[in-house]
Amino acid sequence: MCGIVGFTGHRQAAPVLLDGLSKLEYRGYDSAGLAVQQPGGTAMIVKAKGRLKVLADKTEQGATMPGTCGVGHTRWATHGEPNDVNAHPQVSQSGTFAVVHNGIIENYAELKNSLLKKGYTFRSETDTEVVAQLLDWYYRESRDVFEAVTSMLSAVDGTYALGILCADTPDRIIAAR
Ligand code: GLU
Repeated sequence: MCGIVGFTGHRQAAPVLLDGLSKLEYRGYDSAGLAVQQPGGTAMIVKAKGRLKVLADKTEQGATMPGTCGVGHTRWATHGEPNDVNAHPQVSQSGTFAVVHNGIIENYAELKNSLLKKGYTFRSETDTEVVAQLLDWYYRESRDVFEAVTSMLSAVDGTYALGILCADTPDRIIAAR
């Protein structure tokens, strides 16, 4: 088991997220990552294989990541080896969605095939990347985050806790389980 944390407020998010993840370290994990929303842009992503300390060092204890809304993740790999690319957050092709996930998307292969046919390319070997790309696909049609999330949730089978950032709602974290 691994962990998800989120923060949105008036403080710099990354140090808070690192602190939150440190409290979940006892659960075990193989890699960790942060996504912090950048004003007027997409989320800044930093990921690292190994201990949380590697991620903390890489971001100077979070100082190098500005922004006040973000999510953090510790991963226990089920699909794809533990490495920086497969670590979460996973990001949609357009960069609009950043997703952290604990659990397994059972029907990810089938979903991935249909997304490949729609022209999506995948960077990681994870089941989770399918969630990010599906959100992108549904959002492209509706431009409504809530609708995109509910459509994605009805398409996926499996177990999941999800933390989602959308670049168009920069102070909001969407959570689903
Ligand atoms: N199935 C996902 C992966 O392998 C999430 C694993 C987890 O629960 O951390 O990336």
